[in-house]
Amino acid sequence: MTDTTRRSLLGGLAGIALARPACAQPLPVPGASGRVVVVGGGFGGATAARSLHQAGLAVTLIEAEATYTACPFSNEVIVGLQPMAAQRFGYEGLKASGVTVVQARATGIDGRARQVTLADGTTLAYDRLILSPGIALRFDALPGYDEAAAEVMPHAWKAGAQTELLARQLRAMPDGGTVVLAVPGNPYRCPPGPYERASLIAHFLKTRKPRSKLIVLDAKDTFSKQKLFEAAWTSLYPDHLEYVPLASGGQVTAVEPASLTVRTDFSEYKAAVACIIPPQRAAPIALSAGVADRTGWCPIDPVTFESRLVPGIHVVGDAAIAGAMPKSAFSANAQAKVCAQAVADLLAGRTPVTPKLINTCYSLVAPGYGISVAGVYHPANGVLADVDGAGGTSPLDAPSSLREAEAAYAAAWYRTITGDVFG
Ligand code: FAD
Repeated sequence: MTDTTRRSLLGGLAGIALARPACAQPLPVPGASGRVVVVGGGFGGATAARSLHQAGLAVTLIEAEATYTACPFSNEVIVGLQPMAAQRFGYEGLKASGVTVVQARATGIDGRARQVTLADGTTLAYDRLILSPGIALRFDALPGYDEAAAEVMPHAWKAGAQTELLARQLRAMPDGGTVVLAVPGNPYRCPPGPYERASLIAHFLKTRKPRSKLIVLDAKDTFSKQKLFEAAWTSLYPDHLEYVPLASGGQVTAVEPASLTVRTDFSEYKAAVACIIPPQRAAPIALSAGVADRTGWCPIDPVTFESRLVPGIHVVGDAAIAGAMPKSAFSANAQAKVCAQAVADLLAGRTPVTPKLINTCYSLVAPGYGISVAGVYHPANGVLADVDGAGGTSPLDAPSSLREAEAAYAAAWYRTITGDVFG
């Protein structure tokens, strides 16, 4: 993302107002009929299910959990700025709107037979399937870091028990301790998320454990909204946050949970609290469906989100390879609407329209201090590419009133998107 300003974003948005923006609800599609199944009821899947229903199709949503726990704003939960209850959403709204919701884990997908198998052995036939199963943490990627290690050194990259564990550890640590945050290389869920977490942990230490310090060990040298984050860290957290990029030996090479030790090529860090965000890939059901490639993520057609590997299966959200679009809840929601419209068009025998999609990611670097990045995307050369001249970040030299406004926009965005998806 270039460091262009909000003005160029607005220019780009004005341009796409002429096209049908991805944030619009799908329209009823006359003549669309067929069996549509959606697997995964998070930001992507729940949106897709509602949108398919609005397009006039009968849709079944398969979701493993009775309650969805949202990741956006979970960094705020970790440092006590948001209650955990504000992260939880049920499926009553979706059911009331007419979507059939089945609480079950999908254990197999047969792309040839066009059939989904559930944990209890039930099978569901489909004409088109939309998969939005999210991510899996790669417990094979970092020596010493497995599921048991995550109970000691939480990733907190799937919201829920892990979020609460990290929050408890921070509250319990002695003042004067070192917190270590390990950040993976690209691609991973929520590119600015680790830096928002770093900022808020630094804020927590500054205000609650002032003799403590956070060390951020990063497997890369550049990251989303970098200039904005670094400027904020310099002014707000000079004594509480140390950032170590790849070039300075930031890549974590191994961890030892028993001694809370984090190793890099050059150093060894003894942590009071260690948050390790490991590399990721698409969730297991995507792999078993055959829609993930050797990268562990799912290549898709950028107009319809149909898998490039298995016809009839569409993939949206974090699991998909969406080109320039980041893996975010905002993206998942936008992609799901485009994909649902395309599925309805295909089932009606029409050619899907070429979409334009928008993403905005807000981050809080302190209470009342928000920053954002926005982008507009379109299919180009077989992938989702940035629309030239559109998108941008918050200005570097903004007054505190703008930072405050962006913090309020972030909270409003969360209320709006969770209402749109689960309301
Ligand atoms: P998910 O939301 O993970 O949903 C996947 C669903 O599929 C889950 O409910 C799961 O139970 C279900 N599932 C998986 N496998 C199966 C199966 N086999 N059978 C049945 N169900 C299954 N994004 C933003 O836009 N803004 C933010 O501010 C933001 N902040 C974030 C902060 C943090 C700390 C983190 C970690 C992420 C943040 N994100 C943010 C990213 C956002 O949470 C993800 O991009 C988003 O959740 C992706 O949606 P999804 O539908 O692809 O996957």
